[in-house]
Amino acid sequence: MELQPKDKPFVIRKKFYLALASWMVFGMMFLYLALVYSNYFLIPLFLLFFSIGFWTLSLRCPRCNKQIILNPVIFGIYGYTPWLPYNCTQCDLEFD
Ligand SMILES: [Zn+2]
Repeated sequence: MELQPKDKPFVIRKKFYLALASWMVFGMMFLYLALVYSNYFLIPLFLLFFSIGFWTLSLRCPRCNKQIILNPVIFGIYGYTPWLPYNCTQCDLEFD
């Protein structure tokens, strides 16, 4: 079964790194603000965590539609990983 890719594979990698980078930058920023100024900055921190998390979960392989961060971790057990494999672990499509 050959699906028509809706994103080019390198776009997937870019989107993933964008999510990771914005989590690092804004996560650190809100954490710093929370520690220095007020605990209320933890609210945007959690909102950011969940929105980036769900957005990353919505990134799928353009060919087989598998979630790209759902990968075999050990002994064939699947889990969500904070990294991206070089190839899709289901259809072997290269991501860059
Ligand atoms: Zn795939």
